[in-house]
Amino acid sequence: LTAKTPIKGSVTKPEAGKKKKREKLSSLCKTPPSIVKNRHGRGYRRGHFLGEGGFARCFQMKDDTGRTFAAKTVAKASIKNEKTKTKLLSEIKIHKSMSHPNIVEFIDCFEDDVNVYILLEICPNQSLMDLLKTRKILTEAEARYFMVQIIGAVKYLHRRKVVHRDLKLGNIFFDPQMNLKIGDFGLATIINSAHPKRYTICGTPNYIAPEVLGGKEVGHGFEVDIWAIGIMLYAMLFGKPPFQAKDVQVIYERIKTNDYKFPPDSTVSLEARQLIRDMLSTDPYQRPSLDQILNYDWFKCGAFPSHVTVESLKQKPKHL
Ligand code: ADP
Repeated sequence: LTAKTPIKGSVTKPEAGKKKKREKLSSLCKTPPSIVKNRHGRGYRRGHFLGEGGFARCFQMKDDTGRTFAAKTVAKASIKNEKTKTKLLSEIKIHKSMSHPNIVEFIDCFEDDVNVYILLEICPNQSLMDLLKTRKILTEAEARYFMVQIIGAVKYLHRRKVVHRDLKLGNIFFDPQMNLKIGDFGLATIINSAHPKRYTICGTPNYIAPEVLGGKEVGHGFEVDIWAIGIMLYAMLFGKPPFQAKDVQVIYERIKTNDYKFPPDSTVSLEARQLIRDMLSTDPYQRPSLDQILNYDWFKCGAFPSHVTVESLKQKPKHL
């Protein structure tokens, strides 16, 4: 288990056997055949490997018109137990029902003897995490631009009663025009009157909200996504998540006690810090709503770019 691996069901460290099993899931994925057919016989030609997560490997696929997609490939051998099957079906059902310019478009889903394929809009410019790895920190103008897109997509999710529960830099991808697209609905769930709160401990350690760590009695809701947006904004502006530590248990302790600081040598604006502080309120009901966030001074106190170009992927853009 690392600070980047999503967890579900427990905050204690998994023993070695479980760790091995977790590491194996996506490696069970065999490279798909060079042509994969959907249930209507439409063929997709496999292209290069795009990346892998805990469960899936992702490949480029092209249809016969030359349009390119990303195929999230999940090995059937890794979905033998009911829990994993239910999780995958829920991911597909929720993602399929989404349609928003800042959410990775779900195209199709099909299977062959070895794999399940989830065909998605391709995001060829990698994720916000990859961007941050290259750039170390982003400008406030870039962060403002990205935040508005992220908040727009999360507003759409919440209006449809979906909590994402795994918002993090690594799950937010760039399309060719450098628009952000939220992906990976593997931990998403629906909150409604039958389930006004959720109790499963899940998320990715650095991004987990304190009420999730509070365990079964406390429960959590939409506010966990606001917390995760706060973590992302901090990471974009200061270069690393606020509760970062080598040991996952230390991360949890720091989250529970709200133990983070702004680096003393940073020139990040007071307005940005205020917004981060409020989003990282330990009490979920003290966190601002998505509409309130957009009304914070930070969005009005500095440059707001009309667009971001691929230049941002490599270096600090000259005009921002
Ligand atoms: P998992 O559910 O196993 O965590 P992810 O959804 O995170 O899988 O996808 C695994 C990896 O595949 C990502 O880290 C990324 O590198 C790549 N990937 C996923 N979706 C896309 C996409 N739409 N376009 C391009 N690459 C993608």
